[in-house]
Amino acid sequence: MEELLELYQTMGISPAVYAYGEKALAGLKERFAAIDQVAEYNQAKVIRAMQKNRVSAACFAASTGYGYDDFGRDNLERVYADVFHTEAALVRPQITCGTHALTIALSANLLPGDELLSPVGLPYDTLQEVIGIRPSPCSLAEYGVSYRQVDLLPDGTFDYENIAKAIGSKTKMVTIQRSKGYATRPTFSVKQIGELISFCKNLKPDLIVMVDNCYGEFVETMEPSDVGADMTVGSLIKNPGGGLAPIGGYIAGTQECVDRCAYRLSAPGLGREVGANLGLMTSLYQGFFLAPTVVAGAEKGAIFAANLYQPLGFRCVPDAQESRHDIIQAVELGSEEGMIAFCKGIQAAAPVDSFATPWPSEMPGYLDRVIMAAGAFVQGSSIELSADGPIRPPYAVYFQGGLTWYHAKLGILMSLQKMVDAGLVNL
Ligand SMILES: *Cc1c(COP(=O)(O)O)cnc(C)c1O
Repeated sequence: MEELLELYQTMGISPAVYAYGEKALAGLKERFAAIDQVAEYNQAKVIRAMQKNRVSAACFAASTGYGYDDFGRDNLERVYADVFHTEAALVRPQITCGTHALTIALSANLLPGDELLSPVGLPYDTLQEVIGIRPSPCSLAEYGVSYRQVDLLPDGTFDYENIAKAIGSKTKMVTIQRSKGYATRPTFSVKQIGELISFCKNLKPDLIVMVDNCYGEFVETMEPSDVGADMTVGSLIKNPGGGLAPIGGYIAGTQECVDRCAYRLSAPGLGREVGANLGLMTSLYQGFFLAPTVVAGAEKGAIFAANLYQPLGFRCVPDAQESRHDIIQAVELGSEEGMIAFCKGIQAAAPVDSFATPWPSEMPGYLDRVIMAAGAFVQGSSIELSADGPIRPPYAVYFQGGLTWYHAKLGILMSLQKMVDAGLVNL
């Protein structure tokens, strides 16, 4: 379309970059149609849960102070529990981020002398301090919870032999991270997670399995809670917040586990009874309602990025053809300069803070310098179009989000433009 090309040109996208993008896009029709089907299913799943729980204007009322008898808050938790097919859920603005939600789930259900096992290798960077893999005040290690890890096999599959050896009398909980995080290993499908859970529970039926579901919600029609996870945990400024939730986290799972999480979040004896919603209910409900289509747009952006960068010689995880189980796309750019150029493009395409220049810097919870590009309505929200990554080999940027497919597309085209401008790519 002539008009669009002209508009993009005024925004800095060259005809060559645009044409290269359109060529890649032409081959993606079937995959996009499959994503739309999953989104349609998940949209119906969310609406049905909202109808079943008779969501009404009364649910959106603000509460303050202790937040006793907060109907809207309690009903939102029933909606989440129905979508995740769990007995209970804790969905709160008092859960400050994904790391916090995971910390609550771990520390509420592990006691001194218990052991935590990760059968999928090193957990996400911020979890390392929570567990005490990197010493930190108030880590689980300080409270006498030990940790074991079994790495993935070189081909990215589960090392069942060593997992069996690692499950012992002290093993109380197994933690499975669905998404790759800042690693270039594959993300696991819900089916794979289910197989791993069955394997572990066959060896020790009373194990508690927690799945870090960050970035995975609504990418498939099933969630880890459908395949045996006792707790499924995530952040509301990622997928399930739909871009509207300004803060929050969730834990969906068994009544027993979730009750303990509520006591850990507030206080023993108080549990889920306290926690005012501070007027955030409309955004939490509406964000959850929008989440399936937002996730679909983000996923299209991820696939588009892989199909743009892989033919240019950059390794992409997942690769351009692979099936997807989260919304993250890793692109190995091979150098710090590449990471900076890519992130500059994402930033320049943002509706907010487009004039800012992303630059590598130290971040709490992370060992390496990190570069982050985001021009988001909700600060730090990574369901909005964002790219980030630690400055370390293989110099991969982790690209995710986009509240709309069209914004994701523009951002990726702009990233490629900056790579071209920096002389790092020849089209
Ligand atoms: C984002 C993320 C987390 C939690 O991060 P927060 O920034 O604290 O929300 C945990 N695990 C994975 C795999 C993640 O992607």
